[in-house]
Order: sequence, then C-alpha cells, then structure tokens
Amino acid sequence: MSVYEAVKDALKLAQSSDNAPLIRDLTTALIESAQLSADNIQLQQRVRDLESALRFKESLTNKHGVLWAAGDEAPYCRFCWEKSKLAIHLDDFGRYEGKDRMVCLECKGEWFIPGNRNQND
Ligand SMILES: [Zn+2]
Repeated sequence: MSVYEAVKDALKLAQSSDNAPLIRDLTTALIESAQLSADNIQLQQRVRDLESALRFKESLTNKHGVLWAAGDEAPYCRFCWEKSKLAIHLDDFGRYEGKDRMVCLECKGEWFIPGNRNQND
C-alpha cells in the first residue's frame, strides 16, 4: 500500500469521527503525498534521462574531426556538441575528391571524411 493510499484510508476513517483538526491534517497529508508521488515520478524520469545522456556522452569518440556514438553509423557534429551539447547528426552530401562530404545543418560545419564512414576505419 502506498503512503497516498494509507493516508486516504485514514482520512476516510477520520471523516466518520467528526474530528475537524484530524480531517484537516489528513487532507493536507493526502495532498502533499500526491504531490510527492508526482515529484518522485518526475525525478525518476529525470534520472533515466541523465543516465541515458551519460551513456551517450561516454560512448562518443572523435575520429576524422567528427563524433561517433557507439552503435550509431551516422556521425555527429563536434562543434554543436562542444558548444551546446547538442547531438546533431551530420547530413551526407555525397562524395567529394574521394571523401564523404558531411555537413551539419545546425551550424553549417563541413567535414570530408576519408573512405567508409564507419568509426572503426
Ligand atoms: Zn553543428
């Protein structure tokens, strides 16, 4: 049984006792427990988001001047990451002089990556 449910049950019992101060205090406790539950859900989501961001950050490697995340074959813009922590995939603009031309549509940064874009090259 959650704290909210326990307080709610106590409030039901108190309402039959005609004890106004007790009813008021339990009503306040019920409202606060509901708020704490909502806060807890938000904080749990925040922790999951931060853990995910940390895993992403730890997986980044710099190769050919762009960033690569583990398990992702598309590179990220190093400038946007370093300046604003924005994970912006680079767009493939085809081949140029034997290299892959990659452009960040956010900051307009441009890279020429040799050969296959796989980070393990
Ligand atoms: Zn960028």
